[in-house]
Amino acid sequence: MNAAVGAIGVLDLQGGVQEHLDHLQRIGVVGRPVKRAAELADLAGLIIPGGESTCLSRLLAIFGLDDAIRQAYDNGLKLWGTCAGAILLARENIGETPFLGLMDIAISRNAFGSQLDSFSGEALAPAVACQPIPLTFIRAPKITRIGDSVRVLLQVDDYVAAAEDDQILVTVFHPELTPSLAFHRYFARKCGLKVAAADDAALDPDWTPQSWTRFSYHV
Ligand code: GLN
Repeated sequence: MNAAVGAIGVLDLQGGVQEHLDHLQRIGVVGRPVKRAAELADLAGLIIPGGESTCLSRLLAIFGLDDAIRQAYDNGLKLWGTCAGAILLARENIGETPFLGLMDIAISRNAFGSQLDSFSGEALAPAVACQPIPLTFIRAPKITRIGDSVRVLLQVDDYVAAAEDDQILVTVFHPELTPSLAFHRYFARKCGLKVAAADDAALDPDWTPQSWTRFSYHV
């Protein structure tokens, strides 16, 4: 059997890669950094992490990963975009050119202000966990419109913070920067993976903001 079957990839060009790999390991899912198109083969899903969407879009184009991701999506690959990843997946990027454009949402970059306007909070996303989930927003976008194919998972004030369609999950915040594993379990199940039975609302007591540093994929 191919060792990659059942793995979730994390696009490894820029941004919060290791933090997602750390969370995947915590829920017992094999996580695989993806730098090349060939590494998309046999994945159950792909996380496009937060970072900087302009930088990520250029790197995706340079390495030909944009077309490879579109093709893998057409072949059924599930996708999760966190923050910059959500921006790349949106069909409409307000005031700018959309990039992958695979999900029928409109998104507004840097909608809360500068990096200094980053903030954290918590909110209930009933489809994902039965207790409030901690939320970390870092120069986050707002989802300002969703299409008919899209379901809201978390609405906050005047914007959508998490949404999904049949193949794509988007969050404008960063679950990988909190002790909550709920969204990673949710995505793993969306990818058809069996994840260990667990209380999705529980926070991982072993997580710290530095936990991801034990990964050494980068040389
Ligand atoms: N502001 C960034 C962008 O526009 C996204 C920030 C993030 O991913 N935390 O790409």
